[in-house]
Amino acid sequence: MDLTKVTERVYYLINDRETDRPVLGYIKGDKYSLMVDAGNSKNHVEKFNNFIEKLSLRLPDYVAITHWHWDHTYGMHAVAGKTIACEITNEQLKVMSKWQWTDEEMKKRLLTGEDIVFADTNIRKEYKALQDIKVIPADIVFKNDLEIDLGGLTVILKNVISPHSEDSVIVYVPEEKVVFIGDAYGMDYYNNCEYDPVKLESLINMLKNLEFNICFSGHSSPINKTEIIEYLKSQHKKK
Ligand SMILES: [Zn+2]
Repeated sequence: MDLTKVTERVYYLINDRETDRPVLGYIKGDKYSLMVDAGNSKNHVEKFNNFIEKLSLRLPDYVAITHWHWDHTYGMHAVAGKTIACEITNEQLKVMSKWQWTDEEMKKRLLTGEDIVFADTNIRKEYKALQDIKVIPADIVFKNDLEIDLGGLTVILKNVISPHSEDSVIVYVPEEKVVFIGDAYGMDYYNNCEYDPVKLESLINMLKNLEFNICFSGHSSPINKTEIIEYLKSQHKKK
């Protein structure tokens, strides 16, 4: 599996279900480049960076975080660029940065509901030594939205309403007609796997009004605008 070029200035590394590694994006401006999500560990970041170097691209100057979940954020300490998160994401990063990574503490967090079995299982698979886990807050924090000029290319980060998590941020690249939605399309695993129909409808409408050809979701292959909207509508009908 390699870094795949999707448009002139957008690349991605496919997700890996083995340890629940999400899709990582790469957006190449004339001056700066931006990575989408920090991956679930230092090893995940290194894998991504190796591909970047192989293609003689510059290492990301910025890393935009789509939401707080471990698989998208635990690589933050290992990236070279400045990390960017919305305020709600950052508050949860601060909370997790204080978590202890012992078997006992992890089990306690499952009982209190602070963490979930699916995350716990995959964290133990990704990390041979739990002590290697490092969680840090972001370098740059924004509220609602943020526009970044990468040089000949704009990236818009926007906190949107989604059924997955309150802090869901999309990474939109208008010039390339591409949007990264993280896990915004999924249910809320930290809230009894709820799939709030009102939030889902809001996400569908937001995407309908956004001009894009390719949608990157956190844990599957890129799809087009019609496909993501049809998918979300089908989830709606299940309820
Ligand atoms: Zn998630």
